[in-house]
Amino acid sequence: MFNNLSDKLDKALHVLKGHGSITEVNVAETLKEVRRALLDADVNFKIAKQFTNTVKEKALGQNVLTTLQPGQLMVKIVKDELTELMGGDAEGINLSGAPSVILMSGLQGSGKTTFSGKLANYLKNKKTKKPLLVACDVYRPAAIDQLHVVGEQIGVEVFSDRGNNDPVAISQAAIAHAKSNGNNVVIIDTAGRLAVDEAMMTEISNIHKAIQPQETLFVVDSMTGQDAVNTAKAFNDVLNFDGVILTKLDGDTRGGAAISIKSVVNKPIKFIGTGEKMEAIDVFYPSRMADRILG
Ligand code: GDP
Repeated sequence: MFNNLSDKLDKALHVLKGHGSITEVNVAETLKEVRRALLDADVNFKIAKQFTNTVKEKALGQNVLTTLQPGQLMVKIVKDELTELMGGDAEGINLSGAPSVILMSGLQGSGKTTFSGKLANYLKNKKTKKPLLVACDVYRPAAIDQLHVVGEQIGVEVFSDRGNNDPVAISQAAIAHAKSNGNNVVIIDTAGRLAVDEAMMTEISNIHKAIQPQETLFVVDSMTGQDAVNTAKAFNDVLNFDGVILTKLDGDTRGGAAISIKSVVNKPIKFIGTGEKMEAIDVFYPSRMADRILG
């Protein structure tokens, strides 16, 4: 699929070549193709525009017009730029604490609970890690049940306290439990609402302040397109989170939210979710995502 854009750009530039000298204007024409690909992938309009301007400068700087296959060089420039924009190399998560505490944040339905399980399973499979999952949704008993089901499925202990409606106290008790039971990673699954609201932000901010996690992750459904950016901004303003988890990339989204989120909050995307199963987790590789977005 990636070749499609390359072919298109090659064709556009070659056609123009046959009609005399190629100018900046012609390059701009081909950049429209790039912008279209980005918009099709749900990249924010302003970001797509900014992006094509940068690519234009690079293309002219690298004398793209005098090469034999200008389209291919253009695609390389576009891909390199996109990769750079999404964060360069993959970044891991901070597991330096004893235990390392990972706080999950995000809206209800974003895939927090599923991802908490996937991450626990991923770390457990690394042999040196013994994770503890913590159910901190004090409003929805079903969410606690769901985490217990996940925990059973992957053979990871789940800490919950159904009588307790204070998520800060539950998190602190869970960390104490982890210390005395040899769990070296604590993954805290928090409550989410259907939309950003003050009560939810205050609650997660209180948990964050009280437990000072090594890693705070923001989980977002990649299918939510432009909304993903606003949600990311709202959570980042309150939590200054460390990384983003992009879920549901197995759907037919092209993943443009990855670029928009990275551009707006400037935090690395660390993992992606690619299905409902516990194994459907992958480290985020910007260059692979660039291929996907360019289609
Ligand atoms: P939470 O409310 O944020 O905890 O979200 P859940 O973990 O309960 O996920 C909401 C729904 O999305 C569930 O039906 C999950 O099975 C589904 N889900 C989560 N992650 C993925 C993913 O990567 N791909 C797909 N296809 N579905 C997912």
